[in-house]
Amino acid sequence: MTTPTAYDVVVIGAGIVGSAIARELSGHQLSVALIEARNDVGDGTSKANTAILHTGFDAKPGTLESELVHRGYHLLSDYAEHTGIPVEHTGAILVAWDQEQLDALPDLKAKAEANGYQHCQIIDAAAVYADIPHLGPGALGGLTVPDESIICTWTVNLALATDAVNRGTVLLTDHRVDGVDIGPDTTTLHTTRGDVVGRWIVNAAGLGADLIDALFGYQRFTVTPRRGELIVYDKLARTLVNKIVLPVPTSRGKGVLVSPTIYGNVMLGPTSEDLHDRTATGTTEAGFDFLLSKGRALMPRLLDEEVTATYSGLRAAIDHGDYLIQADHAQHYLLVGGIRSTGLTAGMAVAEYVRDQLAEAGLVVTPKAALPDPPRMPNLGEAYPRPYQLPEAIETDPAYGRIVCFCERVTEGEIRDACHSVIPPTAVEGLRRRTRVMNGRCQAFFCGAEVQALFERETCQESRR
Ligand SMILES: Cc1cc2nc3c(=O)[nH]c(=O)nc-3n(C[C@H](O)[C@H](O)[C@H](O)COP(=O)(O)OP(=O)(O)OC[C@H]3O[C@@H](n4cnc5c(N)ncnc54)[C@H](O)[C@@H]3O)c2cc1C
Repeated sequence: MTTPTAYDVVVIGAGIVGSAIARELSGHQLSVALIEARNDVGDGTSKANTAILHTGFDAKPGTLESELVHRGYHLLSDYAEHTGIPVEHTGAILVAWDQEQLDALPDLKAKAEANGYQHCQIIDAAAVYADIPHLGPGALGGLTVPDESIICTWTVNLALATDAVNRGTVLLTDHRVDGVDIGPDTTTLHTTRGDVVGRWIVNAAGLGADLIDALFGYQRFTVTPRRGELIVYDKLARTLVNKIVLPVPTSRGKGVLVSPTIYGNVMLGPTSEDLHDRTATGTTEAGFDFLLSKGRALMPRLLDEEVTATYSGLRAAIDHGDYLIQADHAQHYLLVGGIRSTGLTAGMAVAEYVRDQLAEAGLVVTPKAALPDPPRMPNLGEAYPRPYQLPEAIETDPAYGRIVCFCERVTEGEIRDACHSVIPPTAVEGLRRRTRVMNGRCQAFFCGAEVQALFERETCQESRR
């Protein structure tokens, strides 16, 4: 039996938060492993959210979450420009539907300012309807949030993980941590694929973070999976709404919104339901009915449009009002817990914070002299050119002119590229997130068989059907 290499840092969980941490740390003179229970990166909460790049205007001032969402917004906006992660700065309007909500708007504006966001304006009902003409009747006024934006959560996760690997991180998928042995100098993580040893362990396991925490002897928090179901409407609905339409937030979260998506659809959701089952990512009839009732009031015209898909994600809600990021100096262990409903935005700032916490705890964190350029990601955004629209690309490589998925206009060239990328998909599901293939109106009825065949050809995999 060979002794596993001891990494300087092992990060558990290859969602947005863990991938951002691995990327940040491997920009320094450290050996880093990123280990993930599933067979792909970004297959947990990070793949199924509302995909809004938050300004943090409505966070609780003074919290770590407020600080890191604010910082993360700027870091991710900048990173998106360098990597080609699609973002649309649509802006949002928070709509007041009754007098109580209208009266709450000045406090929300003040809160935004306390969170470092100075651009909110209170507007009257006429201005709300001028911006969102298809809004349902009864709006009394609103608060504008001009910098709230939509983004591709899949590309964020993949870009961060790819960057981490390019910088030297060793990515180990299919490695579920189920035990630990804490030694004087190193910790051995027992996983479903053998042991992984690290001098420092960072727990970014999302919904599983409290279970890993317990392996280190803690009982400081419990994760409650808080399900959010969403409905995605057809692209023909996209003309109905150009901005994110937000409700007045409550203590349970941000509420049900209507938003354009980066892929050219319109989204309604999410619900908010506390569960026990950490795997319950199915959608329900009750959730659907609830969203339809909300949608009917928010934007009745939307309900005339076709539904393309429904999905749900699980927020890692915890019994603690803020992010829980704490280093245990003695055990060389750092917890990143409770990154509930803002982790897509805050991930890169969480990574910086983790780096500083580790440095404070004594880890020598010296930047590498040179780093590879950030990866240039394939564009999945509807607002930017895609290969089928680029005659020069098609001329150089005719595979970009051969559309395989007609609903989403995905070409053979993009599928091939994804299969040969730094982190290739291990199943067709992963190909969806890398290309948009099979995500459209027909939900793979037309292209499913061809996509499967292409995937098998490009990855030399046996059919899993
Ligand atoms: C409905 C909904 C809407 C949201 N909307 C937004 C939004 O608009 N904007 C925003 O900024 N945020 C939003 N969020 C929050 C955001 O999606 C999350 O905060 C973020 O994705 C969390 O990333 P993560 O890396 O912590 O978790 P995850 O993506 O879940 O990653 C954790 C990883 O750890 C792995 N793991 C778990 N246990 C183990 C183990 N024992 N061994 C190895 N690996 C393990 C999991 O498989 C998983 O891949 C939303 C969330 C939901 C559910």
